[in-house]
Amino acid sequence: MKAVVFHEFGHSDVLRVEELPDPTAGPGEVVIDVTATALNHLDVDVREGVSRFPVAFPHIAGIEPVGRISELGAGVEGWQVGDRVTAYLIATCSACIYCRTGRESLCVAPEWFVGMGSGGAYAEKVLCKASQLIRVPDGVGDVEAAAAHIAFGTAWHMLITRARLRSGETVLVNSVGSGIGSAAVQVAKHAGAFVIGNSSRDDKLEKATELGMDVGINYTTQDVVEEVMKATGGEGVDLVYEHVGGELFQKGLDSLRKDGRLVICGGHSGEVVPFDIIPFFRRQLSVIGSFVFDRSEVETVLGLIARGALTPQVAATYPLEQVKEATDLMESRAFFGKIVLTTGGDGA
Ligand SMILES: [Zn+2]
Repeated sequence: MKAVVFHEFGHSDVLRVEELPDPTAGPGEVVIDVTATALNHLDVDVREGVSRFPVAFPHIAGIEPVGRISELGAGVEGWQVGDRVTAYLIATCSACIYCRTGRESLCVAPEWFVGMGSGGAYAEKVLCKASQLIRVPDGVGDVEAAAAHIAFGTAWHMLITRARLRSGETVLVNSVGSGIGSAAVQVAKHAGAFVIGNSSRDDKLEKATELGMDVGINYTTQDVVEEVMKATGGEGVDLVYEHVGGELFQKGLDSLRKDGRLVICGGHSGEVVPFDIIPFFRRQLSVIGSFVFDRSEVETVLGLIARGALTPQVAATYPLEQVKEATDLMESRAFFGKIVLTTGGDGA
């Protein structure tokens, strides 16, 4: 099979398209013939050696494959060759208290992340455990499913499951042009919220407005807190959707109304930030941590996409051979939504 590998950490020029042996399915495993695979910023962290995950060389990047099952290992039940699927990014233990209660993102004994132990998704074939499989429903294309899986899964987990967003609430979505930002605008509107969003670029704010965002703030030319207060009659928002870190974390806290909550899943722009404790407790604020999502949440969002209630944002697709161009576009941040690699398989 063809796969994108790197033999050392570095910039996108370390990526090579190479011919590798096909994986074979052991007991409880399946091989997926990949048709579409989405890019994520985690892939860049892994390639640069700053992800805090163990990486062995040569390494195949990628954590978000979609395709068809081409081989079933011994003992796999409930799945057929040809089934259209995506793979949950953690090979969970299926046995711990968190797995048994549908909170797989908290599994205490995960065997691997897709793209870590098992070989990643920037390839024509990927191996995973049958327990990782998620069915892609009719009405959702392969490219759409790849663009949706992590972005909408994360947005659903953060807004609905962790922060318990309710109809009529106001939400501030940080960085609406990213994959998870554009997904959050749609999930929040679907839940009946009034959505304020920010970005460094006006063209991204325009696209988010087309997705239903009510108020847009350009944080390079406008003060986020001031604009939030203007849009909420001086009250502040009920909920902040945070995944940026650094200055936007504090601006998020300052944008909250009393008893407001901030849900956070990342902090690329500054992972250690000052925290003013006094207003935090006097105003009874909450900060809620959120890590990835659960398989059932991906099933939920794929179902909503199939019914037309949510729309994955595909910024661009590239063949596997053009992975460097695709990655450079992602690192430029000059795009809206998700970038997807295709392998030329049917349906992609
Ligand atoms: Zn577990």
